[in-house]
Amino acid sequence: MAHLTPFEYARPGSLEELQELLASRAGVTPFYLAGGTDLMVAMRSGKYSPELVVDLKHLAGLGGVNPGKDGTLRIGALTTIHAVEEHELIRSRFTALHEGARSLGSFQVRNRATLGGNLANGSPTADMAIPLMAFNAEILTWSSKGERRMSAASFWMGAGKTALQQGEIITGIELLLDEGLRSAYEKLGPRNAMDIAIASAAVVLRLDSGSIREVRIALGGACPTPIRAHSAEKYLEGHRADPEHISQAGKLAADESNPRSSTRASREYRLAVIPVLVERALRHCLRRQGIIDEINGQL
Ligand SMILES: Cc1cc2nc3c(=O)[nH]c(=O)nc-3n(C[C@H](O)[C@H](O)[C@H](O)COP(=O)(O)OP(=O)(O)OC[C@H]3O[C@@H](n4cnc5c(N)ncnc54)[C@H](O)[C@@H]3O)c2cc1C
Repeated sequence: MAHLTPFEYARPGSLEELQELLASRAGVTPFYLAGGTDLMVAMRSGKYSPELVVDLKHLAGLGGVNPGKDGTLRIGALTTIHAVEEHELIRSRFTALHEGARSLGSFQVRNRATLGGNLANGSPTADMAIPLMAFNAEILTWSSKGERRMSAASFWMGAGKTALQQGEIITGIELLLDEGLRSAYEKLGPRNAMDIAIASAAVVLRLDSGSIREVRIALGGACPTPIRAHSAEKYLEGHRADPEHISQAGKLAADESNPRSSTRASREYRLAVIPVLVERALRHCLRRQGIIDEINGQL
């Protein structure tokens, strides 16, 4: 393991202080530190040797889970994964996000790791990214040039590459508090805990008299970025929620995937497990809707 090379450390207390800091270090690429569960590992291994590390943890207003009067839920970038996992409104209304948080790393990692760090690291299997894609989350950012908001679908640009520009930070995410949706997250890792997914699937579903009225399926580990399985979604919409349609949707999701082989798993293995994960997530949603009983336990 390489030793840390010396670096300058800064801890702004507000976005104004951050702006001044960035202006005074023009030409230097800041490395942001939130929970440090990714960044410190990368620095210790010698992968990154930053000149300037900017600790975000003392920035006011970037933590917490806040329902808005406009029917939205805002989650600050510095909110820990453990706080996402524990929040009652997330557990009851955004179950897939709760399940993603619950599945991330160990208790110690979840206690330090933040939502913003999980999105910013650009991983195609980040456990917060996949549910947030399925919930059509908006990602909120700040830079010296101003604030931006973008859809989760446009945030991930390639392997480890996001739409964040130099110096820009994630300030939080926004979700719509939509009634009548059921959701689920399924993850396959080499072990049950402490592991980044080989592949994962998040499903958000709305039913109308046993038929699927609206469905969004997001996949992790299926491409260099998190993706939506649009043709599987299109196929399911308007169809009855029965075993045949669910199985076909899983196959379509795999057809839309283009995974790579890595040290974690081969492309072929990922293609084989994606349909299973999609089917499982769909079944969990239906069970939560009480639909499983209606079709005599067929699912
Ligand atoms: C043992 C172990 C197990 C893990 N298991 C999982 C797992 O199961 N699933 C999973 O998804 N991940 C896992 N991870 C990866 C990591 O813990 C998470 O991705 C975590 O959420 C990162 O958040 P952080 O706050 O620690 O980020 P940091 O390490 O502080 O930062 C990560 C990256 O994001 C940038 N960054 C941080 N916050 C912001 C922000 N607000 N705006 C812009 N850039 C920002 C940093 O500059 C850095 O490049 C694991 C890591 C470890 C060490």
